[in-house]
Amino acid sequence: MLLLIHSKTSFLTRNKYILEKCSSCGKWNRVSVNKIFIEPSNPIEPKVKVIIPMYEPLQISKCEKCGKVIAEPTELIRIVAVKE
Ligand SMILES: [Zn+2]
Repeated sequence: MLLLIHSKTSFLTRNKYILEKCSSCGKWNRVSVNKIFIEPSNPIEPKVKVIIPMYEPLQISKCEKCGKVIAEPTELIRIVAVKE
């Protein structure tokens, strides 16, 4: 299974949504996701088990403003900033 991992500035919200910023127009869009956990295949320290939480979009999501595809199920999202 090939996974394309992209990390963008995304904010986790309640109710299984994240907010993704459109790279084209800058609008924040809601994307419904599943939380999953990834184990890196080549960890820095093999004796330490590292699990990375990732978010899998449930469907192809397009920007509400400009129509650009901002998330799709084959691209996992890594949360790099968490909003309070
Ligand atoms: Zn846009």
